[in-house]
Amino acid sequence: MADERLRYLSSELGLRAVAVVTTESVAEGRRVHQTAPTSTAALGRIISGAALLGSTLKGQQTVTLRINGGGPAGTLIGTCNAEGHLRGYIANPGADLEPTPGRKLDVAALVGTDGYLSVSYDLGLKEPYVGTSRLVNGEVATDLAYYLATSEQIGSSVGIGVLVGKNGGVRAAGGFLLQALPSPDLDPASETERERIIDLMIKRSEGIESVSHHIADGASSEEFAQTLVGDLPLRFMGRDALEFRCTCSREKAAGILATMKPAELRELFADSDTAEVTCEFCRQAFTFTRDEIPRLDPGDENRRGEEKRR
Ligand SMILES: [Zn+2]
Repeated sequence: MADERLRYLSSELGLRAVAVVTTESVAEGRRVHQTAPTSTAALGRIISGAALLGSTLKGQQTVTLRINGGGPAGTLIGTCNAEGHLRGYIANPGADLEPTPGRKLDVAALVGTDGYLSVSYDLGLKEPYVGTSRLVNGEVATDLAYYLATSEQIGSSVGIGVLVGKNGGVRAAGGFLLQALPSPDLDPASETERERIIDLMIKRSEGIESVSHHIADGASSEEFAQTLVGDLPLRFMGRDALEFRCTCSREKAAGILATMKPAELRELFADSDTAEVTCEFCRQAFTFTRDEIPRLDPGDENRRGEEKRR
């Protein structure tokens, strides 16, 4: 089943909800980065988090989530663009831990709590909009909810579940986000109903692992979303295709080389006539020969200098 994002809204109650199924994307992230089981879960959670936050993007916009909690995983990155293309990165993909006593993958310990979650919205302006919050528990979903509440001042509940099978494969990945939009003019009855739904979704975010089992059992993205929001007065607003797809290219890789200092370039080509630039998101390697890097040859600069001196 292809990955998808479903969007819901209640303008009367000032609530918006997003559900994502990201199983295929997380499986591709695991394949690309060759992650150990606990790392697969951590990477899957940040990729799914990016898919949730990406629901409001348009045009060329991109959102990037970055976490470093000081744990064995190192830095984790998840990105989503307006086309629903997802990418992920984990600094130490081989990092793994013993499961918790409840037989759950210990993502919190792998991520750590000594650090920050930063969310960067590249909206095509000169500078991206970047917000940061302290990590709460390293579980990613709770950290994201805390970030949204403190940095963006939008009360949110976030649940993300990634099920990793005994063989290390991704059995299911999905998540949801409920946000309470500013609604100053609600009557008391609507306010009560809104509070009821928010409390309900906070409880459901805690049980997301069991909900993700529906995906593993073959539920469609609608059925997954229905178990989360089907009994709530939310209108279905639309769906978006999601896919793990990198935005790197040979041109962008060449651009990275173009920003390097001559000394760095010489070091890069010290032992070989070719150099590789590897994309950190999809591990694709772009090979460049010396001839393609005209600034490389120090002889050129020296000769030019000599000519000037003459
Ligand atoms: Zn790439």
